Amino acid sequence: MLRADVLILGAGPAGATAALNLAPHHHVLLVDRLATPAQRIGESLPPAARRLLTDMGLWDEFVRQDHAPCHGNRSVWGGVAAEQDFLRDPDGHGWHLDRASFESWLRNKAVERGAALLTSTTLTAVMAVEEGWLVTLETLAGPCQLRAKVLIDAGGRNAMLARKLGARRVRQDKLICGWLYGCDYGKAGDGLSHIEAVEHGWWYSAPLPDQRRVLAFHTDADLPIAKALRNADWLTSTARQLPGLGALLESAGFVADTDVKLTAAHSAISTPPAGPGWFAVGDAAISFDPLSSQGLFNALYTGLAAAEACDRGLRGDATASDGYCHELESIATAYRQHLGFWYGEEKRWRDAVFWQRRQREVVLA
Ligand SMILES: Cc1cc2nc3c(=O)[nH]c(=O)nc-3n(C[C@H](O)[C@H](O)[C@H](O)COP(=O)(O)OP(=O)(O)OC[C@H]3O[C@@H](n4cnc5c(N)ncnc54)[C@H](O)[C@@H]3O)c2cc1C
Repeated sequence: MLRADVLILGAGPAGATAALNLAPHHHVLLVDRLATPAQRIGESLPPAARRLLTDMGLWDEFVRQDHAPCHGNRSVWGGVAAEQDFLRDPDGHGWHLDRASFESWLRNKAVERGAALLTSTTLTAVMAVEEGWLVTLETLAGPCQLRAKVLIDAGGRNAMLARKLGARRVRQDKLICGWLYGCDYGKAGDGLSHIEAVEHGWWYSAPLPDQRRVLAFHTDADLPIAKALRNADWLTSTARQLPGLGALLESAGFVADTDVKLTAAHSAISTPPAGPGWFAVGDAAISFDPLSSQGLFNALYTGLAAAEACDRGLRGDATASDGYCHELESIATAYRQHLGFWYGEEKRWRDAVFWQRRQREVVLA
């Protein structure tokens, strides 16, 4: 029988962040089904992340990793072509991360600070027992049991553990994303993310390390256009016809060289995001629409906030999870208002279902 003060399910950005903040004070077991982080879309880290990385004592080492700076966003939205740079941002520029190496680094920091990491492992059962939880893990060596005082669900937007513990997952839309990679021999160095609205959704592209670029289209899973999303030729040829993105891909000499991957990108929230003896962090607590570019920041922030609340709880503060729930509630309210504002700025396709749905959400917000 293994024992831990805290079991964290999921060693992505949120789980690793919770682990590296708790490990100096408590016995932490960090578990992930993947042996190493997968290469995946989601590389834009906003400037404000600098404060969190500093608070957690990670800033100097982060800077040494030399992730590419992101100097702002270029958008064609609401019929207006605009460039919003980070020049006046008090935190400076953001980053286009090498996502897999960023995640590996966070995992390593958690281990360096004392967390035990168990990969190729998942959770199959959980039961409340006296003073905590009895958990069954499926490891490479077979099933094993663990007793933990606190559980943290950091398993991403599926929120499997939080749901097992009684949280309801409220899904707010049907957004999905089709994305692929290609080479970029052009102006990758301008360091801008590009966003462009069209009748049935919106496009995203950003430069990546090693002269690579990501191209992505977001729409609702139940709209007819979603069927085209798996088709790499459709994705690249349609993007090339757009006024802003087409010119960008042309100047970058972009050539797609991977298959399309599909991923869920809807907004969702776990209610409640914490309870006695458990917390949900990152996407497992609240999943953001990629338009907000706030998912990684939220993963770092909630990873840290839950670690602090969990520490208070382990020291006897019975209200620790309530405070965390209130904080998450205000994050969710601010998020919905901002998202409603940005979707509301696009008024060109009032008859298109994709935009009608988002106008309705503005009214609800
Ligand atoms: C299309 C798209 C684009 C995005 N772009 C950006 C962006 O540019 N900037 C940004 O800030 N955010 C972006 N995001 C959001 C960002 O990727 C997420 O918010 C972030 O990954 C959340 O981190 P997390 O640690 O909570 O979850 P995840 O990164 O999903 O990590 C979850 C971890 O848990 C593990 N896991 C899951 N289930 C189990 C299980 N049952 N057992 C064991 N392990 C498990 C997984 O292997 C993984 O390592 C984007 C999201 C999407 C969908």
